Amino acid sequence: MTCPNCNTIIPDNNIYCNNCGIKLNPSEIDNWVNVNIDLDGLIVNANQLTWGKCKILGVEAYKNGNFYEAIEYFGEAFKFEIEDAKEISNIYNELGICYGQIEDYKKSLIYIDLAISANAENFIAIENRIGVKMKLGNEKGAIVDISILFENGKMVPKMWHTLGIALENIKQYENARQAYECAINEGYLLAAKDLEDILIKIDKL
Ligand SMILES: [Zn+2]
Repeated sequence: MTCPNCNTIIPDNNIYCNNCGIKLNPSEIDNWVNVNIDLDGLIVNANQLTWGKCKILGVEAYKNGNFYEAIEYFGEAFKFEIEDAKEISNIYNELGICYGQIEDYKKSLIYIDLAISANAENFIAIENRIGVKMKLGNEKGAIVDISILFENGKMVPKMWHTLGIALENIKQYENARQAYECAINEGYLLAAKDLEDILIKIDKL
């Protein structure tokens, strides 16, 4: 079908337009029915919506590439009391990832910050925040987060490459060179081209 708002062609029955984010159809939550089963006079609420179900719906929508829909479900989870700080952190992180997917990096950063506030040891969220800060042109902020990963023994080879890019962007070429070399030494060979380029750059200086 064609989105009435932005004229993008989207799959039939999509709940949100993947392009502009307008809601076109009722979501799983709008359609949620709390089924009350009467067993010998007992009312059993068999199908109660919970934050856990919201999360499952969000993960499913995300897997299908329906990021606006996923945002609705993850957001809905917070209408319920979630006691486990790690779960709160994970759901905020999911929201941050969804906003990153639709390139709303400011909102992405807000939710990833909340994820890290809820659980300072959510290193996956810290990795995500590094990516978002780089997208926002906040290299120095990204470098601070990379140092948190480093200090906690959570550096992955790819992060050395990201560190190199951040340092290169702020014109710390010699440090960037070292970071690219670390990436390659750790097996992240995608840094090879950047290392080659920066060696040329340093030679010219
Ligand atoms: Zn649209």
